[in-house]
Amino acid sequence: MSGETSPPTPGLVHEWVDQGIEDRDDWARRRQKGIPNDEQLLVIACMDERIPLEDALGIELGDAHVFRNAGGKVTDDVIRSAALTTNFFDTEEIIVVNHTDCGMMSAPDETVVEGLEHACGGDIDRVELDPSLPALNIGDASLAEWIRMTDDIDDACERQVAFLKNHPFIPDDVTVHGYVYEVESGALRRPHERLSEAVNTRE
Ligand SMILES: [Zn+2]
Repeated sequence: MSGETSPPTPGLVHEWVDQGIEDRDDWARRRQKGIPNDEQLLVIACMDERIPLEDALGIELGDAHVFRNAGGKVTDDVIRSAALTTNFFDTEEIIVVNHTDCGMMSAPDETVVEGLEHACGGDIDRVELDPSLPALNIGDASLAEWIRMTDDIDDACERQVAFLKNHPFIPDDVTVHGYVYEVESGALRRPHERLSEAVNTRE
């Protein structure tokens, strides 16, 4: 939280106290007052427990809106959240963080589809996907595409960045970048730029 300032000046302690009061008010009523997050940033990342988002991006509490889901995939609710924060909360930058050894690469589509069909007793058509939109269900669409398992995390990262950049709900002046967090090295890289390969092969 903001408001951690230098010690009070002798004779002006009331100014120090007043500044603390103002800072607390700004923090508590950010949305009411239209104050954006400190870095005007939205981060979309996988829910995986091994990604230290704050350390990797050099951010801390108050700096960013953060959306995490299985795979760090651009789903309808990512679009919904990105549309709100970029159009109404002054967010100017979006960063997508995917990662190596993602669970979304750990099984073929068929296995996951079979598991979910089993979970709902095979009655996929009656499964609601959004409590406020009961009419929204899989229908004739592909359950596998809704799940979005992944073969190549670098390709997936690039595709999601492209989709966000071109989405009509995201203003054109919002920047969108994507990175792959390597759980094996603890570092971010740009998609398809594998430093480990560059230093271990002739070319
Ligand atoms: Zn993951």
